Amino acid sequence: MNRLHLFSTTIAALLLGAFPGIARAADPKLSILWVDVEGGAATLIVTPAGESVLIDSGSAGGRDPGRIQAAARAAGLQKIDYFVLTHFHTDHFGGIPEVAQLLPVGVVYDKGLPTAAPDGNPNDTRFPLLIKPYREMKVAERRQIHAGDTLPLRQVEQTPKLTLRCLGANQQFIAAPTGASLVPAADCANARTKGKDTSDNANSLVLLLEYGDFRLFIAGDLTWDVEARLACPVNLVGPVDVYQVTHHGLAASNNPLLLRALQPAVAIMSNGTQKGCEPETCATLSALPGLQARYQIHRNLRADVQNNTAPEYIANREKNCAGNAIQLTVAPDSHTYEVSIPATGHHRQFTTQKSIPH
Ligand SMILES: [Zn+2]
Repeated sequence: MNRLHLFSTTIAALLLGAFPGIARAADPKLSILWVDVEGGAATLIVTPAGESVLIDSGSAGGRDPGRIQAAARAAGLQKIDYFVLTHFHTDHFGGIPEVAQLLPVGVVYDKGLPTAAPDGNPNDTRFPLLIKPYREMKVAERRQIHAGDTLPLRQVEQTPKLTLRCLGANQQFIAAPTGASLVPAADCANARTKGKDTSDNANSLVLLLEYGDFRLFIAGDLTWDVEARLACPVNLVGPVDVYQVTHHGLAASNNPLLLRALQPAVAIMSNGTQKGCEPETCATLSALPGLQARYQIHRNLRADVQNNTAPEYIANREKNCAGNAIQLTVAPDSHTYEVSIPATGHHRQFTTQKSIPH
């Protein structure tokens, strides 16, 4: 074994150590893995049919693509069937060109490649260089995704219906579903605004994963005033079980108006040691009456340590971390789901909201 091989084998072993006990794709259940990409986002969904969907891909530079590859391998995947990009920022699209060199990537969905700089700055000379690997990567197919579109995921007979649907893209949202509830007009009228966001965060995809009774909400880095439009005047999404905390927990996002409309039981935050997990967001989450658990991919190591969740709900507690993932597995009947941190042994079971008698 030469030194390079020894090095790569050691790295692979270390990375696999971050995902012990992860469900193999052959298991007919839904599993979701939040890969630690140090303040970016990368959510890997493995369907009961064994298909995979990666939503966002962390940053370029080896570390994040390597962790995504290790997570995919630990889940028994040979390829990424679908990659969905929420918006054109490097902590979300940066990793995928390298991932595509490590394992085959099928269909790429995004909200359309920006013709100019995505953040409304025509003088931005960096973006064309940053996006070049994404434009040029080899994938099977590329499609633009719009509000209302659904991914063509394979269903497994005699298992709950599985859908991954786009509820919003480029600030265009689905029409109000029949029976959607209204948020009190006074709440909408009196809600605080934070001003127009001209960055691409405001254009993030809004995604809803449903598996029978189970519902997971992911909205990339969608920002405050745009979030309000998902709740006012009509609650477009309705209650969810799990909320992937938007924008790494930054206070430019996570509008309480939307959070109260979503009523999540579990929040999972893809933050970094110094990024996200901001006091205002933590206060909003803590004030939600139905929230039972708040997970963080990282301990917040800034001075405001009091904003951290309880230690057992944190996947990585040290700065020099092992890149531990957070895993969620939905039971085949979709009435319960378990959230775990395989590397620490933490696991906790929750009942889906639709299964709780009201
Ligand atoms: Zn981000």
